[in-house]
Amino acid sequence: MSVTNLTLNNGVELPALGFGVFQSPPEETAAAVSEALKAGYRHIDTAAAYMNEREVGQAIAESGIDRDELFIETKVWISDYGYDETFRAFDKSAGKLGLEQLDLFILHQPLPTDFQKTLDAYRALEALYADGKVRAIGVSNFMPNHLTDLLQSTDVVTAVNQIEIHPYFQQKELLALNAEHGILNQAWSPIGGITFYREGNGGSTLDDPTIASIARAHGKTPAQVMLRWHLQQGRSAIPKSVKPHRIGENFDVFDFELTADELIHIDGLDEGVRRGPEPAELTLETHGRAIPEA
Ligand code: NDP
Repeated sequence: MSVTNLTLNNGVELPALGFGVFQSPPEETAAAVSEALKAGYRHIDTAAAYMNEREVGQAIAESGIDRDELFIETKVWISDYGYDETFRAFDKSAGKLGLEQLDLFILHQPLPTDFQKTLDAYRALEALYADGKVRAIGVSNFMPNHLTDLLQSTDVVTAVNQIEIHPYFQQKELLALNAEHGILNQAWSPIGGITFYREGNGGSTLDDPTIASIARAHGKTPAQVMLRWHLQQGRSAIPKSVKPHRIGENFDVFDFELTADELIHIDGLDEGVRRGPEPAELTLETHGRAIPEA
């Protein structure tokens, strides 16, 4: 079995399995990304708000891997929404990453208190796309109402919606809505990081008995089983780790296959409870932060 590739609604291809760097401390990020590239990852997901784009760029530059073999994705933070501001956000992110062109540039969150600004930011993405500065554009944490408003008011159908998806929170209606519009579902916290790295978020997906028993049956780990569950259902997944053995473990998922019954059992674990921030409640007052220049 080989590495799975996906095709976006504009024909651009990407490896389904990417490498995330949320909460990777800047001083550990370059080493983690280098390790990921050595392990075989060719798709990296970062964000202006993670404050580690520069270190991601450093690892890319040092890797010696041809630019066209890599798929680099980053996100505009809400503090940079607006038409002109989002152009500047591109310059900041591309500058820190040391790249002239980004493979995927996405809006990190809807800003429901000023959705006009969100739309203006998206129009800037459309212009960057038309100029060839980015190969695809997308959104993150867009709920059905945000997506419907976006689709009604803009021209380029978003290629990706990056959302919280793990066995305990599956957002099946949103997955179906995205699919209906040809929008790729990309899972953040794909192994359920948000269920265990924040206090009081309920049980950890890594300790789930159903997932553990499926993992035992395949001689694999719970994280590997969750990643296969995403891949076999056609999603992109972007697990994060700063630990070399886990970076390798999370990429070692192309030599086994879950059965239809196993997929159904994992589907059955959905609790319907969001662990991450409620997208409708995000405001500039609560979540705004200045993004430094490149
Ligand atoms: P993940 O589901 O990727 O889990 C990451 C956590 O699990 C870390 O604490 C990591 O610790 C640990 N871990 C990694 N691999 C293993 C393993 N094999 N076994 C046990 N523990 C493991 O959660 P994230 O929330 O980080 O999501 C992944 C990526 O999604 C982010 O890095 C980011 O790129 C993106 N994201 C996007 C969001 C958005 O709003 N658009 C929100 C959140 C994430 P350690 O590093 O110590 O190994």
